[in-house]
Amino acid sequence: MRVLVVGEGGREHALCWAVKRDTPDAALFAAPGNPGTAQLGTNLPVPTTAVDALIGAVREHRIDFTIVGPEAPLAAGLADRLRAAGLAVFGPDRAAARIESSKAFAKELMERAGIATAASRSFTALEAALAYVQRHPEPLVVKASGLAAGKGVVVCASRAEAARAVRAMLAEGAFGDAGREVVIEDYLEGEELSVLALTDGARTLLLPAAQDHKRLGEGDRGPNTGGMGAYCPVSIASDALLERVRREVLEPAIHALATQGAPYRGVLYAGLMLAADGTASVLEFNCRFGDPETQALLPLLPGVTEHLAAIAAGTWRPRETTLVATRAAVATVLVAPGYPDKPERGAAIAVPRDLEPETLVFHAGTSRDADGTLRVHGGRVLTVTGLGDSVASARARSARGCELITFGGKTYRRDIGWREEERAGAARG
Ligand code: AMP
Repeated sequence: MRVLVVGEGGREHALCWAVKRDTPDAALFAAPGNPGTAQLGTNLPVPTTAVDALIGAVREHRIDFTIVGPEAPLAAGLADRLRAAGLAVFGPDRAAARIESSKAFAKELMERAGIATAASRSFTALEAALAYVQRHPEPLVVKASGLAAGKGVVVCASRAEAARAVRAMLAEGAFGDAGREVVIEDYLEGEELSVLALTDGARTLLLPAAQDHKRLGEGDRGPNTGGMGAYCPVSIASDALLERVRREVLEPAIHALATQGAPYRGVLYAGLMLAADGTASVLEFNCRFGDPETQALLPLLPGVTEHLAAIAAGTWRPRETTLVATRAAVATVLVAPGYPDKPERGAAIAVPRDLEPETLVFHAGTSRDADGTLRVHGGRVLTVTGLGDSVASARARSARGCELITFGGKTYRRDIGWREEERAGAARG
């Protein structure tokens, strides 16, 4: 099997690693990849949204099966083009990817399908949006409707702050085209949970739930980031809760897309807010695996590649409906100094050769000099995943790995998975 992974982050390194684990004989390619994927296969110097060049690379390298990591190429129609050419691809067509690439579309779909989500209105006109803000109770949330690399959401304590966010998006072009339409929605209180399912547009296979940590600082404080860490499994995600999310969120969304002629083939990610009364409301849908959730999830799911390949080939007949994690994983992201605003590049990175077993290092913002020196090349630099029999032991392993890796200004959270430890502490009394 010849496999191409499209993307260049920690998620894509983890996907490459999982493909190699499950199918060691596979010839692996990444476009454009990173120094981590280069250790597992061949990096092809093609940007993720250069759709024509990617199709060319798939033909040239006789790729049997393409996995698309990030949302941008899906929104640009890469999966449509590959399918139209009779090539196997894991990832939804552009029309189905709208569930992520247009929050206004996702909101409408949820309303029609009866999926619980924060009450909201969408606007393209500034005056109407500002008038709505003035009538809205505080706090409230303003979202750029389009793709904004996880940065288009502003949780606003006051109407004044919301008005500023609306102006920035609709009048001042913050987020460019992504902010030409805004969604203004009610603020929801609770605990967040990520629930992902593999689907061919009809069947679903639930993955174990994960929890990610979006804020820069420990204790979930400070600015929002692309994600500072994630862990799996999450004890509040009981079987009953997961089944409810399947029945009331994922299946209705998949069904609604199929009904409107946009069957979803890939992984559908529901970002949920769990309220104290047990209701689960959708904050967002993503049309791909999460980053860094993937770096925690995939190491716990041996054999997952077979599902991705069968969905891509259109031959998927899964025997089970849920994949269960029998172990735990904690993924901690090491970021560059100055992240997320102005990450500083260039520092040399040292990764010791003799990290403990069950410690995985996934590359993202790294580059390699001609002499082999590894350097900081982006905001999120590496993800260090520790595995263990419990979240606590996985967390300790991840922490030891993070300590041993060095680069100037290395920054990371030492509390990934804190909610789980708090729950374990409470259970012990
Ligand atoms: P999203 O990209 O829509 O998931 O939003 C990014 C983050 O903003 C989420 O992970 C939440 O922490 C927060 N958020 C989004 N929508 C809401 C909401 N309606 N109420 C409270 N927090 C929200």
